[in-house]
Amino acid sequence: MVRLILYLLLAVLLITLLRSFIGIFLRLASQWLLSGPRSGPPRVEMGGELKQDPVCGVYVPASTAIKLNYGGKTLYFCSESCREKYRRGERRTQA
Ligand SMILES: [Zn+2]
Repeated sequence: MVRLILYLLLAVLLITLLRSFIGIFLRLASQWLLSGPRSGPPRVEMGGELKQDPVCGVYVPASTAIKLNYGGKTLYFCSESCREKYRRGERRTQA
């Protein structure tokens, strides 16, 4: 009779352990699926080609970027403030 109770306890323990393992595994799997591989060059978004902001160096999709025509070519900025900085000549990197 004592054995039966022990077996039952063991079974319950195993089930709870299994459940927590499955929970951790599912969480890890979903995190991995959501984040994807971290290394490599910047990903090309659905919105089109990625352009580098010459002021802060951030990559922005050409379709959503703030544009500025400068010396016959189009420059792409992440925000209005970056565009203003570029206009005022406060550039840190050459385009
Ligand atoms: Zn910027």
